[in-house]
Amino acid sequence: MLENKSESRTSISDLGEFKLIDHLTKQIKIKHKGTIKGVGDDCAVLENHNNQILVTTDLLVEGVHFDLSYMPLKHLGYKAVMVNLSDVYAMNGKANQITVSIALSNRFTLEAVEELYEGIHLACKNYNVDLIGGDTTSSTKGILISITAIGEAKKEDVVYRSGAKPNDLLVVSGDLGAAYLGLQVLEREKQVFQVNPNAQPELDAYSYLVERQLKPEARKDIVELFKELGLKPTSMIDISDGLSSEILHLCKESKVGCNLYEDKIPMDQQVISICEEFKMDSTTIVLSGGEDYELLFTIAQGDFTKIKGNPNLTVIGYMTEQTEG
Ligand code: ADP
Ligand code: MG
Repeated sequence: MLENKSESRTSISDLGEFKLIDHLTKQIKIKHKGTIKGVGDDCAVLENHNNQILVTTDLLVEGVHFDLSYMPLKHLGYKAVMVNLSDVYAMNGKANQITVSIALSNRFTLEAVEELYEGIHLACKNYNVDLIGGDTTSSTKGILISITAIGEAKKEDVVYRSGAKPNDLLVVSGDLGAAYLGLQVLEREKQVFQVNPNAQPELDAYSYLVERQLKPEARKDIVELFKELGLKPTSMIDISDGLSSEILHLCKESKVGCNLYEDKIPMDQQVISICEEFKMDSTTIVLSGGEDYELLFTIAQGDFTKIKGNPNLTVIGYMTEQTEG
């Protein structure tokens, strides 16, 4: 969805690469004292005392990871940042900086790229992250976005996928399944629109699902909550591919098994209603759906009192010996 359709359309080739970069990055104000140099030289320069450095990167390709016919560019920019920050939080770290690289076909105007960067800048503002560089090039078809996030954590605070022990509780933040169903709703509306371009989208009943798909939020707050509670998970991963795949990662890396309580999996009421409406099995959706960007982690049983009663956290199972599956 290229918004601003009726407004001005400035061709990027008229502007040139350097003016474009300048245009997209001129508003940046550095927030972290560890960011010594951001955009504008051959490298960004970062300083870090004592802490371990966390680095993660993701590549998003039009037509593979997103569809611009229902993904507004501003949302795409925001989501591309979230996907990366979520990985830093999944290590129990603090995200400080990102780099953004884009490849654009000649179908994209300056206004379109500005929209994308509006989402990127908003994400940086909301999550207190510096945009410190990137690369800009052309593509023969569509748009590609690659973001790298840089974070930090004290050595003793870093949480890997590999630390879960038998009898640890399996806990998830927020609720699951909505982002996948949001995508289904948008796909369906797109098909309706293709048949009848005058049809108005009927998204009200599914607003939460669509929002979870188009504007996910990474769980920075949960990592901060861990600090407050004095809680260190024994293992952790973020939910990008669906619950079953993430549990499998934790089990494999930790060499444990897992017992999942199906009836404990947290779901929003909209997830439950739409599954009833379309005769879908909500457990299957949650297990295989993905893109929820919630945190899935294990804690020692003795730490249960620290999370008990917290509405953001749900115990959904426990880890077992590997031989028990
Ligand atoms: P180089 O020739 O060394 O690759 P560039 O001309 O590509 O340098 O980039 C100039 C500066 O602008 C660098 O600091 C780079 O990190 C930054 N930059 C380039 N493209 C982007 C972008 N899409 N978003 C943010 N910063 C960018
Ligand atoms: Mg470059």
